[in-house]
Amino acid sequence: MKFDTVIIGGGLSGLLCGIRLQKAGKKCAIVSAGQSAIHFSSGSFDLLGRLPDGTAVENPLEALSGLNPDHPYSLLGKEKVCRYAEQAPLFLESCGVHVSGEASRNSWRITPTGERKPAWLTLSDFTPLESKEQRIGEKALIVNILGYLDFNTKFLADSFERQGTKCRIVSLKLEEMERLRKNPSEMRSTNIARVMDRDGVWEKAAEQIRQMLEDEDTVVLPAVFGLKDGSVPQSLGKYIGVKTVFVATMPPSVPGIRTQMNLRAEFEKAGGRFFLGDTVTDAKFTADGNVESIGTVNFGDIRLYADNFVLASGSFFSKGLIATPERIYEPVFNIDLDYAQGRDNWFDGNFWNRQNYISFGASAKDGIHASINGETIPNLYVIGSILSGSNTLYEGSGGGIAVITAMAAADAILDGTEHAEYAK
Ligand SMILES: Cc1cc2nc3c(=O)[nH]c(=O)nc-3n(C[C@H](O)[C@H](O)[C@H](O)COP(=O)(O)OP(=O)(O)OC[C@H]3O[C@@H](n4cnc5c(N)ncnc54)[C@H](O)[C@@H]3O)c2cc1C
Repeated sequence: MKFDTVIIGGGLSGLLCGIRLQKAGKKCAIVSAGQSAIHFSSGSFDLLGRLPDGTAVENPLEALSGLNPDHPYSLLGKEKVCRYAEQAPLFLESCGVHVSGEASRNSWRITPTGERKPAWLTLSDFTPLESKEQRIGEKALIVNILGYLDFNTKFLADSFERQGTKCRIVSLKLEEMERLRKNPSEMRSTNIARVMDRDGVWEKAAEQIRQMLEDEDTVVLPAVFGLKDGSVPQSLGKYIGVKTVFVATMPPSVPGIRTQMNLRAEFEKAGGRFFLGDTVTDAKFTADGNVESIGTVNFGDIRLYADNFVLASGSFFSKGLIATPERIYEPVFNIDLDYAQGRDNWFDGNFWNRQNYISFGASAKDGIHASINGETIPNLYVIGSILSGSNTLYEGSGGGIAVITAMAAADAILDGTEHAEYAK
């Protein structure tokens, strides 16, 4: 089978790169083994929340110069990062993902435990806060669904009350949820969202909440609404009639899964082929050092040929990188990686400390080209969380790296074509 571009990995970076290429007229295939990090997403894409020396970042674009030279943003260059960061909201919007936020000023998102973390672009389910200290309201009604354990109302109430919001916690009891409640392990966000998606159920929930309201000016709800339809959270808020704040739950993430489904649908609508549940196993190279084809488990002897290949297979979490006691390797192409020698240097025994292994990954001298034994592979691009040089968890930069490197690689494949339609 022959394509213009084959992408390995259908997470945030692979899908965005595929959509951009496919919409520009390239024939693309994405092969993706399974779930991606976006299934576990907070609902916000982070651009840069903290510098490696611990300095908190208010303006990510200004702070770029404080990053190490081997950081994916530094390798791509400030000019490109700023340009793509500014185009990203419109680009995401054009992919059916509705976000708010600015690259030149971090907003704040509320975590499932009530902490506040810096955020760049936030899905329309959520209302980002202007500052870390901003109160969500004077008085909040925190509403859980009876029997749902992945939404910690007590943590949230404690956190909101520390900031001066008076909180009251209540539970919704819906007969439609009773079948799920018989087995506590079924009370997961996605199952709840499926029930809420049934005709009239979220409206019934909204009506119950209205009746439970006393003098509260804010309602806080778990983000378990609108698995199929992203407009449900806003409609629910309107129905309730007071400010309604959705808070991310423990995984899986309903807004994240919806985003993944929307991006896949957008890619396929544009004509792309998405092979889910298949794993790319190996690659063959041409005599001049380009990738010629890849093999997959499901295609067996049938190989996928393309002019360009994009490796978007994620980090350890998604098996884009594999660690053995002795070494770390990338299993498809065996591309060059940057990582510390000696397993003891990979991690800190204190789980809460900054972990080195998170910054290990693919070496890419220009930020997007892979190499093998120091030789750049001209038609092999590498994007997203498989890249080395950033401690995304510590810095809060994972979403930004995925989005920006995806856009950069797609444009490089399109021979540097500028995408005026996304420019402001
Ligand atoms: C649990 C978790 C939560 C996160 N939450 C956030 C957040 O809220 N905000 C934020 O900004 N960042 C977050 N991040 C950072 C995250 O890494 C990026 O935001 C981004 O989603 C990464 O996208 P990606 O496409 O690079 O990789 P991934 O999302 O990891 O996707 C890689 C895909 O490649 C597939 N794959 C791997 N190997 C193969 C193979 N051989 N063949 C075929 N397919 C393969 C995997 O199955 C997977 O679907 C989170 C990371 C993790 C691990």
